[in-house]
Parts: sequence; structure tokens; C-alpha cells
Amino acid sequence: MGIEDKLPSGILLTTVEGVFGWLRKASFWPATMGLACCAIEMMAFGTPRYDSGRWGQEVFRASPRQADLMIVSGRVSQKMAPVIRQVYDQMPNPKWVISMGACASSGGMFNNYAIVQGCDHFLPVDMYIPGCPPRPDMLIEAMFKLREKVQHRPIGPNEAAAVENAEQAALAA
Ligand code: SF4
Repeated sequence: MGIEDKLPSGILLTTVEGVFGWLRKASFWPATMGLACCAIEMMAFGTPRYDSGRWGQEVFRASPRQADLMIVSGRVSQKMAPVIRQVYDQMPNPKWVISMGACASSGGMFNNYAIVQGCDHFLPVDMYIPGCPPRPDMLIEAMFKLREKVQHRPIGPNEAAAVENAEQAALAA
């Protein structure tokens, strides 16, 4: 007989980590940062038509200090890359990165000296979205996949190590 059989009905057992992940996954605060045409689709994601607020994803912040999600939406010029990295470094942990569109993920059609051939050269990317441009629905789908990842992230002393490992793995890939 398991412990569940001895408890009265209506009792729910879980872990602090489980509750924490459940709360955290439902409150993304993305940084306000559009780079090119993909940013128009990112903006549409927050409008009433797509209504990302239904899942707690609509609070775009103008300050990186208040953001925990960076959506790299558009091609990244060589000059812009260090600026984006600085914005990322100013965001408090835990934080996540979505690479939105072909240009952000691989340079897209801009295979030239002026454009970084993928933002994962200088950022630890958690999620890639294909397309030119991806539709807002695809961004919503990516957010849901990211929520699963956030749900299972450890907290406490294990979190710092997990963050560092994830960042190194993403940059090495
Ligand atoms: Fe523009 Fe297409 Fe590049 Fe997005 S993927 S920034 S829509 S050219």
C-alpha cells in the first residue's frame, strides 16, 4: 500500500521544485527587442488577435533588469551582436533565449560578412523557430515547449550549476 492510499482524498503531494517550476513557467517577461522583420510577427504575438496574455507571456519589459526571456527576432548584424549580448548579461537569472526565424538562427538569406550566421554564436539558445518569418502561432508553440523546459529546471544550489551547464552546452553545440 502506497502513502497515497493512507491519505484522505483531496490531498495533493508534490515538491517545492514542482510548485516553483509550475509558477515560473506561467510568467515569462520578455525583453522588448526587435531586430528586423521577424519582430513584426513577435509584436503581433502580444496583440489581442493572438493574445499571449492568456498564458502569462505578454509582459514585455523595456529594461533587461526586469526581463527573463530574450526573443531574438531578426537578423543580427556584427555591430549589434555585442549589444545583444550585453542586454542578455544584464538580465537576471534564470533567463531563456528564443531564436526566432531563419536569420536569427542561421543568418538566413544574409550569408555575408555583415550578418552573424546564427545568434547561438554568442548566446545560449533554448529554442529555435524556423521560418521567414515565423507566424505568431509558431512563437506561441515555442513558448509552450519552453514552458516544459522551465517546469523541470532545478532550483536552489543546483540551479546555478544547471544554468552554467546549459549555457556551455548551448554554446558548444
Ligand atoms: Fe526578415 Fe525573414 Fe530574416 Fe525574419 S527570417 S528577419 S522575416 S528576412
